Amino acid sequence: LGRRIIFVMRSSFFVHAVNGSFGDPAFYLRVAHRREALLFDCGDLHALTSRDLLKIKAVFLSHAHIDHLSGFDRLLRSLLYRVEPLQVYGPTGVIERIGHRLAGYTWNLVRSYPLSIEVNECGTLGITRTACFAASTGFRVQPAVSLTVSAGLIKETPHYQVRGALLDHGDIPSLAFCLEEKIHVAIHGDALAERGYQPGRWLTHFKDLLRTQESDSTILEVPHVSGNLLRRTLKELKVEIAHCEPGMKIVYVTDASPTQANAEKIITLATEAHLLIIEATFAQQDWDLACTRNHLTAALAGELARRARARKTLFFHHSPRYQKQPQRLHKEAMAAFSGSITDS
Ligand SMILES: [Zn+2]
Ligand SMILES: [Zn+2]
Repeated sequence: LGRRIIFVMRSSFFVHAVNGSFGDPAFYLRVAHRREALLFDCGDLHALTSRDLLKIKAVFLSHAHIDHLSGFDRLLRSLLYRVEPLQVYGPTGVIERIGHRLAGYTWNLVRSYPLSIEVNECGTLGITRTACFAASTGFRVQPAVSLTVSAGLIKETPHYQVRGALLDHGDIPSLAFCLEEKIHVAIHGDALAERGYQPGRWLTHFKDLLRTQESDSTILEVPHVSGNLLRRTLKELKVEIAHCEPGMKIVYVTDASPTQANAEKIITLATEAHLLIIEATFAQQDWDLACTRNHLTAALAGELARRARARKTLFFHHSPRYQKQPQRLHKEAMAAFSGSITDS
């Protein structure tokens, strides 16, 4: 991925727009210091290597229009031999959609394969239904279970959580997502070197202990440059080498009708996001088209980002009709983001 990573968020998440601003939506978020990546929407994935794909632990689908889901087969093909399950999150109906895609192939030879796919439907109250498709059963759906989760929360791990908001996209819902790191732990490289502590995997473990608020007296073994193993308490290390601050927040919004109700939900979800990834599909001049096709304009996307006080923005899902003026929508959105044009 190297050169094409576009945002480095204090080394917590590396965000990569797989198909650029005009291609099918797919955002690859690599989680730093972990062999883990998340995928926001699943458009064409041919630009990703098998290695990249193997890191994907969860896919967040805004909705099932073909430009947001056509990459699913490539992902499935790459993950067939993986032991760790794939989690999929999407709006109501996603269990049926994934089930139909899986049913489109013959699976008589995969009974010994370990892969399972857990599909979660997200409503306004969080996850409402979960279903599992396992290679061992030929990817036949296992009965769905109903769950109650706290409002809007759809995924929680020790170091990050994902919340969702349902937007209107014409007569179907489109899910917007908010990924939040719980706390951000920065390590002082100088302090580490001064004390002769050898950097390594123990630092990831140390950060996890801080995030899960383990007891201050917890003992860690710290490799020293001399080759010795030192014993330090969590509290000692916290004071010596770490700095804790509020975690990163990344919000993903796409395929939303340009309505007042959507605008309010987007602003609430994206408030003070470090990065807002938001569709800018049509030019403000083509407002009527934006209304009939149920997409945001670039100016509206920029204005929403400004009103949410987002720090950085990434505008995408540009309609191919502007391909001859590749910078037009970006410029229009940035002008509205910086407040240099008045609200309409
Ligand atoms: Zn779309
Ligand atoms: Zn759509």
